[in-house]
Amino acid sequence: MAEDCLFCGIVAGSIPSETIDSDERTVSFMDINPATPGHALVVPRAHSKNLLEIDDEDLEATAVAARRLAKRMSDSLGADGINVINACGAAAWQTVFHFHLHVIPRYEDDPLELPWVPESGDPDEIAKAAAKLRADG
Ligand code: 5GP
Ligand code: ZN
Repeated sequence: MAEDCLFCGIVAGSIPSETIDSDERTVSFMDINPATPGHALVVPRAHSKNLLEIDDEDLEATAVAARRLAKRMSDSLGADGINVINACGAAAWQTVFHFHLHVIPRYEDDPLELPWVPESGDPDEIAKAAAKLRADG
């Protein structure tokens, strides 16, 4: 447990939350500022700051828990779709620095919008980035 970590406090039960699911490695609870009705968060019990630091077993367990919630959102809330979102780093909108997956039920008539405008990229720039990202690049 990290001191002064909000989500460690929720996992420990010292900070109240609407918990909806838990297992050996994860706890899931409702987001206090829901993007849509039913917006939930899945966190590993063990503190890790973000996607770059979480260990593989906890990452796998949070993904499995997120899918468990996605199924319930579909079955119990009548969600038409689901977004699973992770913010890694302040530049990527992370505000709570204990790894979490947002599981956001989507409804045909909800007001959320794609946060970028899809536009054709420059093929050379795409190829350059691909070369840097290839393991043997
Ligand atoms: P991030 O911005 O790091 O991707 O997501 C953090 C999320 O935590 C936000 O969606 C925010 O609404 C949620 N959050 C912040 N404080 C609390 C809290 O005290 N309780 C709960 N349940 N969620 C919180
Ligand atoms: Zn923490």
